[in-house]
Amino acid sequence: MDAMTDLPLFFDPTRCFIGGEWILPNGQETLPLENPSTGEIIAGIARGRAADIDAAVTAARAALDGEWGRTPAAERGRILSRIGQKVLERVDDLARLEALDVGKPLKQARADALALARYMEFYGGACDKIMGGTIPYQEGYTVYTLREPHGVTGHIVPWNYPMQIIGRSVGGALCMGNAAVLKPAEEACLTAIAFARIAEEAGLPKGALNVVPGLGEEAGAALTTHPGVNHISFTGSVGVGIKVQQAAARNIVPVTLELGGKSPQLVFEDADLDRALPFLVNAGIQNAGQTCSASSRILVQRKIHDALLERMAERYRALQVGPAMADLDVGPLVSARQKQIVSGFLANLGGARIVAQGHIVEGVPTGGHYLAPALVADIAPDNVLARDEIFGPVQVVIPFETEEEAIAIANGTDYGLVAGIWTRDGGRQMRLAKAIRSGQVFINNYGAGGGVELPFGGTGKSGHGREKGLEALYGFSVLKTVAAWHG
Ligand code: NAD
Repeated sequence: MDAMTDLPLFFDPTRCFIGGEWILPNGQETLPLENPSTGEIIAGIARGRAADIDAAVTAARAALDGEWGRTPAAERGRILSRIGQKVLERVDDLARLEALDVGKPLKQARADALALARYMEFYGGACDKIMGGTIPYQEGYTVYTLREPHGVTGHIVPWNYPMQIIGRSVGGALCMGNAAVLKPAEEACLTAIAFARIAEEAGLPKGALNVVPGLGEEAGAALTTHPGVNHISFTGSVGVGIKVQQAAARNIVPVTLELGGKSPQLVFEDADLDRALPFLVNAGIQNAGQTCSASSRILVQRKIHDALLERMAERYRALQVGPAMADLDVGPLVSARQKQIVSGFLANLGGARIVAQGHIVEGVPTGGHYLAPALVADIAPDNVLARDEIFGPVQVVIPFETEEEAIAIANGTDYGLVAGIWTRDGGRQMRLAKAIRSGQVFINNYGAGGGVELPFGGTGKSGHGREKGLEALYGFSVLKTVAAWHG
């Protein structure tokens, strides 16, 4: 066994988790799972299809009608907190699984496992704290509201941050008493299946969580069209998001869409550049830039543009790219396809210039999908690299003169997920925080450490609805108004 690639499999990835049972999928087929650092197939995962999704939805409904549906809120909280505790006990195994599956450096994978634990703790603590209210009304009535679960919630997650996205999405849904059916991504889903095993060990009642791995067009599409699903949370690309919303519309089912981004950081000449610099670069290269909230546009006031560009370039030249388990600055991209897409952008610079690149360390496995991070400047505003989501370690640096121009450039894409503002001017901080079209705005930081408490979601083509924080729980529940006439 190779210590660098050995998988801690404490579950069977060839099976679906349905109604508390580990079941071979219909057709009994597996899909190959690749280690992006080596190109080797490291596991076969269950190829769930429509029949398995149907069984999972049925099991979820039975859970709502049975033990899970009768579990008091405080007890739900204890169970979720216990899951969080068990995630912590397994944190090293989970980090290893995610690193080998996604290709992300081990310490980034470990941070994701800790975030998953934190989501379960946070939502465990929230189970009995989301309340309805009473409404003053006409004489003879008592009116109150109840917050109730939707019922069966469908969760479709991508490959880039499986643990974090499962935590915020499934965690929020279970908190409000829904029963979840999770379809993880075919490129990386080991931690999703591991999570089911952990939830089982923690005593989550049968059917409250069901996991059906499989292809997007098979298992994913079956989940979005299933008439027994009452809410869908989708995290992924804009193209698939549109399909999901269309499918859900046929059943009049609400959806939360967490889609892509082209998030800017705006750096003004009065900014604390020493503080800003690591944030500017890390936000572009974390997880090899395969992050929805990656900051792929750095807008810099003209007076400091050249000097800041050079300081960023210095950092880029020092970046080391290598296998996930070597735990360097940047790992490989998730797949040959992803590498091809990102390389395609870099091969068509359209007059822009690569100022600096990181380097791939010697001796990386030839089958890995390595790509040197690239810092791009001298770019026209209408260049696709300045407008489209690249989803790789590529940042473009764009100069601006005035605050108005900075706002116009920042708001000049179809997306609106995250933005960072770097300035010491308090008035400007407030003006920009209002003017920038974005779900989250960070002042003199970027990401704020990713806190689970902070509501997250997009505007425009970045999606709609909010996950994370308490705010998510309003989306994972429905309000019922009860008006009692008693004379
Ligand atoms: P993707 O849309 O291709 O796949 C996401 C998920 O959807 C996968 O589980 C896939 O199997 C499933 N899927 C594919 N086709 C489907 C269909 N027809 N019906 C139902 N499900 C289907 O996205 P990706 O390439 O895996 O992920 C990258 C994208 O995700 C990027 O655009 C990124 O910005 C976005 N993303 C957004 C967030 C966020 O929170 N806003 C977080 C992470 C990733």
